[in-house]
Amino acid sequence: MPKVIKGFTEETRTISFPEAIEEAGRCYLCHDAPCCKASPTGTDIPGFISRMRSRNFRGALRLVRESNFFPGITSRVSPYDEQCEEVCLRRKYGGPIRISELERLLADCDIKAKRPYLPAVPESVGKTVAIVGSGPTGLAAAVELVLSGCKVIIYESSRIPGGVLTKGVPSYLINDRVIDHEVGSVLNLGVDLVTGINVGENINLVSLKNSYDAMLLAIGMGRARRLDVASSNKSEIFTGIEILESLKLKEKRLRVGDKVVVVGGGNVSLDVASSMRKLDVESVTLLYRKDRQHMPVFQNRYDICRDSGVKILFRAVLKQITTGPQEAIKEVVCLKTELKESEDGKVGAVPVEGSEFVLPADTVIFSIGQEVDRMLVDLFSLETGEDGKIKVDPETNRTNDPFIFAAGSCVERTDTIIEAVAKGREAARRIVKQLLG
Ligand code: SF4
Repeated sequence: MPKVIKGFTEETRTISFPEAIEEAGRCYLCHDAPCCKASPTGTDIPGFISRMRSRNFRGALRLVRESNFFPGITSRVSPYDEQCEEVCLRRKYGGPIRISELERLLADCDIKAKRPYLPAVPESVGKTVAIVGSGPTGLAAAVELVLSGCKVIIYESSRIPGGVLTKGVPSYLINDRVIDHEVGSVLNLGVDLVTGINVGENINLVSLKNSYDAMLLAIGMGRARRLDVASSNKSEIFTGIEILESLKLKEKRLRVGDKVVVVGGGNVSLDVASSMRKLDVESVTLLYRKDRQHMPVFQNRYDICRDSGVKILFRAVLKQITTGPQEAIKEVVCLKTELKESEDGKVGAVPVEGSEFVLPADTVIFSIGQEVDRMLVDLFSLETGEDGKIKVDPETNRTNDPFIFAAGSCVERTDTIIEAVAKGREAARRIVKQLLG
């Protein structure tokens, strides 16, 4: 039976106050804390934990938000266990300090507070910056620019701000209320937001140059790749991004069947496959061309996927989608792969001729990565690298057009939301430096 996919509720709970105080009490408050260096945003971790120990929760939140304005979001979806918690000096003595859980409690307190925390905005320095894209990089840049005295306007092509936060993270990982609160905080700082507008089409470059002192592109990687696989069916083949958007946005509900095959091996693939099982889809199979150790994924996302009952087939690729009556998908033909190491040490997956096997399927979801949407890149004649990412000066984030800066995953590999936040903040600081000389 086709299912109309809908959202979920957050599955993990926030730590209690007594638990947080006990956990904060375990921290050594290290002087030269390795956790701070491993935090992409350089958060003063012993500093905020010290404030929590003295029950100064608002002061602790203030300190966290000085470096990371989105602790409620990052603490839920970024792999702290592979970053700051990985290097915690408590690791061998009862386990690392649960930094993400402490930050999550602080963020949740702010949501419930009568007067949520907002930093003071300084006097204007007389500069205005346009940001294109309201994902984590664009929002973090907006915060840094406003707190440096610049006026900021964000242009977002979609109806809802937040980019990957609002459209790409399943709500069993993060409650929409958290996202709304932290995205809303940015707007409460005085950042202007215009949604549903395509920069370049609805507003041209000349007009932008006349209106603003600089423009930052934080457009992420908005275009999903698809495999070129033979099939006449178009209605039961989706991309992972389409499915995740459908889970979050009411107006984009899609229908999936009972036998779903997901092709891919990244975090998005895992999230999509897990989501399907959580919707009680009878059979969900994930096809990945290499082995587990080659999957560029967070361990917790893998665990969720495996525990939700997804069948993960390693060393397999999709060859063909077979359709039946009325072109409905009937099955998929797959090939086994062999792994071969090249001279430069890279491991590639080579399909084995004659190794075909068949899986029953009625829905296929491709989740094989994303790329930068070329529309703006071409329109603004921006230089790109071989990978399609926008080329910038690594010291300034400036593109080949001196008016246009770029940051985040449209420029470089950015694996986590907290890294995207850090990149936005860094780019904003550089823009301010260049605008103010
Ligand atoms: S490394 Fe661990 S124990 Fe040391 S300050 Fe950081 S969180 Fe506390």
